[in-house]
Amino acid sequence: MGDSEVQEQLAQRLRYLNEISLELTKAPTLDELFRIAVEKGRTKLGFDRMAIFLTTDSPFCYVPTFGTDESGNTRDERLEPSTEWNSTDSVGMAIASHKPIFAREDVNLYNHRGEVVGRGWHVISMLWDGDEIIGWLTVDNLLRHRPLTPQDVEILQLYGISLGHLTTHKRIEEDLIKERNLLRTIIDNTMDYVYTKDTDLRFTMANRPFYLRQRVPQTTSEQEVIGKTDFDHYPEAVAAQYAQDEMGIFRTGEPIHNRQDTQVTATGEEVVLLTTKVPLRDNQGNITGLVGVSRDITDLKRSERDRYDLQLQRDRVDLMNELVSNLSHDLKTSLSIISTSLYLVARLDEPSRQRDKISTIEKQIHRLGKIIEDTLYLSRLHHAVESTAMPQDVNQLLHDLVMVAEPRLAAKHLTAELDLCPDKLSVSTYDDAIARMFSNLLENAITYTPDGGTIKVLTRVQDREVVVEIADTGVGIREENLKRVFEPFYRVDESRSIEMGGAGLGLAIVKQIAVLHNGSVEAESAVNRGSTFRMRLPLS
Ligand code: ADP
Repeated sequence: MGDSEVQEQLAQRLRYLNEISLELTKAPTLDELFRIAVEKGRTKLGFDRMAIFLTTDSPFCYVPTFGTDESGNTRDERLEPSTEWNSTDSVGMAIASHKPIFAREDVNLYNHRGEVVGRGWHVISMLWDGDEIIGWLTVDNLLRHRPLTPQDVEILQLYGISLGHLTTHKRIEEDLIKERNLLRTIIDNTMDYVYTKDTDLRFTMANRPFYLRQRVPQTTSEQEVIGKTDFDHYPEAVAAQYAQDEMGIFRTGEPIHNRQDTQVTATGEEVVLLTTKVPLRDNQGNITGLVGVSRDITDLKRSERDRYDLQLQRDRVDLMNELVSNLSHDLKTSLSIISTSLYLVARLDEPSRQRDKISTIEKQIHRLGKIIEDTLYLSRLHHAVESTAMPQDVNQLLHDLVMVAEPRLAAKHLTAELDLCPDKLSVSTYDDAIARMFSNLLENAITYTPDGGTIKVLTRVQDREVVVEIADTGVGIREENLKRVFEPFYRVDESRSIEMGGAGLGLAIVKQIAVLHNGSVEAESAVNRGSTFRMRLPLS
């Protein structure tokens, strides 16, 4: 063969080499890559027998992939056992030489069983991953006995280098695919909705639970979600809120953790979601999008609410039981006082003593009426929320109540001082509940303050709440009793209270009203110095 022919042949084989490399990049698997490489080495590059072996994790051990039999057919050798090399065999010598290619001429040639099948040249071309040997290509001339040319050596060395690169690449790709499949399996089989979005707020990934959940429009594959935004799935207001949150993440880089929000879907369903959104960044740290994970906690919330409702019902039943038993005790006490007094009225001759007893009877009848009225009011309070709350001017209300109480204040020579906040303080009230609450406290202050005392009514605003204080300079309440004064029918001094006509429900009503209006009430007191009742109600 002349020089130009050799040159032409080399150019042709290099072209083939290029074509084969391109084809191999498209191999779907690593095994397929080896099979094609062996076959093309024979059919295109013109070699006789070619085989590819790979090193393993065990030292000195290698495994076959695909090879060529004595008739020149490709052999699948993947299931054949691994082999160990030693320093005296060709593989051992090739590796020890640290050269990319190792050629020997006129040596025994073997078949896959290790039997000698002929003589000829044998070339080993290394497959490298960086500076590590990951396998090799072996070639001989058993079939056509063509002598080995420098061009063959050059081509085989290039083929080895190219296969080394491709193998490394394919391995990384397969590892990535394996990892991606694992991740995908996990995210598709979680209960949570997992999705990613780009900075234009378009979905770039959506897991199975997410796309199966979309009802309007109904989606059944990830492709139908990708490229869309929340505006394609949710009502305008919901989508706008999400968009605002997400723009905030892109602007600040701050994630949103476990945000709970209630969403009414386009089909009218109410769902409660717990959502975390975290920015996604590229290698330079620039935000490229976000990953969102939402958990549907609607059922959890529902059962939590059911449990709460059940407890509320139980508490109500307990309260009613307690009320009924206290009520019957209270009714009996008054009735027995009335019947004793009646008995005496019939038998007493002295008119002044008779009048005394009649006055006792009147007081007890008044008390019975109050107990019944207060009990009914307390039970009706639970239904008050069904009516609409109306705004009420707190300062005006307190002013009017003090005016109405004027005769009783004057009878006991009590001074009322009003220290009202100059601003208009408006709170929401169901029916006359707030008026009733203040009135009960004012009544108590008058009742439990001896002649000549002072009653102070103060209002102020604190933390968007109206604070109302009704303070007196009366008998006060001991610390151990103070804790219980808001319980229904609790009285500090039973006999005195019964005699004074107290029903023991006044403060229980006050507390119920405060709670019902999302407010609170507390008491401070010192014996013989006076008491202060402080209410807080949200400003409306
Ligand atoms: P009553 O109808 O007996 O007044 P309340 O529920 O209104 O029932 O009050 C419960 C108890 O708290 C009363 O019996 C009384 O001993 C005590 N109490 C309430 N307000 C005052 C106050 N301003 N000063 C002293 N004691 C009070």
